[in-house]
Amino acid sequence: MKYFIGNWKMFGVPKSINILNKINYFHSKDKNCKKYRIVFTPPYTLIETYAKHFKKKRILIGSQNCYQKEQFSSNTAAVSSYMIRSVGAKYTLVGHSDNRSEGDTDEILKNKVFFALKNKLKVVFCIGENKKQKKNNKTFNVLKKQLTKVLDKKLNMNDIIVAYEPIWSIGSGKIPTKDELKETIIFIKKVLKRISGKNSFKVLYGGSVDGSSVEIFKQIREIDGFLIGGASKSSKKFIDIIKNYYR
Ligand code: PEP
Repeated sequence: MKYFIGNWKMFGVPKSINILNKINYFHSKDKNCKKYRIVFTPPYTLIETYAKHFKKKRILIGSQNCYQKEQFSSNTAAVSSYMIRSVGAKYTLVGHSDNRSEGDTDEILKNKVFFALKNKLKVVFCIGENKKQKKNNKTFNVLKKQLTKVLDKKLNMNDIIVAYEPIWSIGSGKIPTKDELKETIIFIKKVLKRISGKNSFKVLYGGSVDGSSVEIFKQIREIDGFLIGGASKSSKKFIDIIKNYYR
């Protein structure tokens, strides 16, 4: 099963559901529909309406983040996994580089993952190196640390998907080479195996995925899907990614 996950970031109002309706229609007619799953993470304001609307349809709804405490707390503007799950979300991103740069430490992320799983959300755990770390050949060190500091075998690893998102690639149009990316995805899977003792993991790629870059990514069979930012705000662009992937 491959994943195509659209991350809307700070985008969307109630009527933006039309974008997802078109994607839902495409999925319902697509002969390849059994091969992949579509998840969208709209902002908090839209989760409940969208989750209700798509409850019996093709698109699953997730959250872009969750708070590091359990149920309710006195932290202004915080939204917990419990609250997210209660309005119908099935997934949550954790550790997106946007949130890491705003202060999400490994310790905070560990709590977020723990409470998300406890509240029956599947976690899309984002990792990735920045430009300087890549230039200094530190990519593998960074990724290994990001994984081992947060994940451990006591967690239900079956409900965790890892998204490898090199920070320098997000929104920049720059992408890793095919060999680089293949090697990195294999490395991540090895680390995950070491952490959990299990063999099979879903590892996605994110960073400037669009209808043309996906032609390169689809040659790497170790990639289990994509986390898509910019191109997920347009039904045509998002559908083109899926069409070109299965062409
Ligand atoms: C992202 O922000 O997670 C992302 C992958 O963005 P983009 O597809 O625009 O590079």
